[in-house]
Amino acid sequence: MVHDEAPGYAPPTMPRSTPDHLLQQGPHAFPPARRRAVQRRLLEWYDEHAQPFPWRTARDPYAALVAAVAAQQTQMSRVLEVYARWMEAFPTLASLARADRAAVLQTWGRAGYPRRAVGLNETARRCMEEHAGALPRDPEALLALPGVGPFTAAIVRTFGFGDDAPAVDTNIVRVLGRLVSGDLQPARDTSRAEIDAAAALFPAGEGARWNPALMDYGARVCTPRPHCEVCVVASMCAAQPRFAAGEVAAPVSAQGTFEGSERQARGRVMQVLRDAAGESVTLPALTKRAGATTAEERARVRILLGRLAEEGLAWTDGRRAGLGQRPSKM
Ligand code: SF4
Repeated sequence: MVHDEAPGYAPPTMPRSTPDHLLQQGPHAFPPARRRAVQRRLLEWYDEHAQPFPWRTARDPYAALVAAVAAQQTQMSRVLEVYARWMEAFPTLASLARADRAAVLQTWGRAGYPRRAVGLNETARRCMEEHAGALPRDPEALLALPGVGPFTAAIVRTFGFGDDAPAVDTNIVRVLGRLVSGDLQPARDTSRAEIDAAAALFPAGEGARWNPALMDYGARVCTPRPHCEVCVVASMCAAQPRFAAGEVAAPVSAQGTFEGSERQARGRVMQVLRDAAGESVTLPALTKRAGATTAEERARVRILLGRLAEEGLAWTDGRRAGLGQRPSKM
């Protein structure tokens, strides 16, 4: 593995400077030659190791939107499953706009956080009404759509339109925070201002390669326990000397346990409603199929059902319940 240094590089020996100066001066400076070296090496690594996800090369803003929304807080194996299912059921923004809420929730299935499916459905309708049936290219207009945050907007812009828009997700924060700020656990220690400054490493005209390059690098090399020994930018990384000296990244607090959680209980209720395949279910049947056996558990299921109804994910009239919105004819 080549670990040659780029011209102008000085090893980090002092505390980091202010975010404004992060890439311009001080021990962690990234002068132009060093920036180009980092960009070139990470892009070359990406060209050899890119994950062949279909939305990355489709040049389809809608495909990029679906993938970005599905990827939020979700493992990639699940993203691939829900993406394939979703694109088969709703291959275009127009077909998604025509779908009813029960159908989109049914298709989302067990992918978790079903509000995301509703958000996609609402976004498609808004695009039909306000953007001539297409996703807008303008960042402000994208951010105004339901469920579209900075990460999703950046993915739609880079994969969908080929624009330059730095994305920020867990893996990207980890790579940039270590590389530029020298933090071992950037998710906890690196400020947003520093990550924004590090985004200046973004190579112009390379958005569709740079964002996924950092994502894949964070997933495979600069992992929570990084593989610095095979890293193509190790010689320019502010954190590498710390890892080499034996320091370790403290674990970030994991999500609470799923077993026994409200999220798990909500998931069970949603599963019962999906299993009804478009039909409504009586509340006694719902509580039974959700596994509630005591009066307390049955009450809990009814409370959860009420919350799901408030969020627009289910409906109930006090006797029966169903997925999505209550059909007009019953
Ligand atoms: S040297 Fe280690 S910490 Fe730095 S970017 Fe490479 S893998 Fe990550």
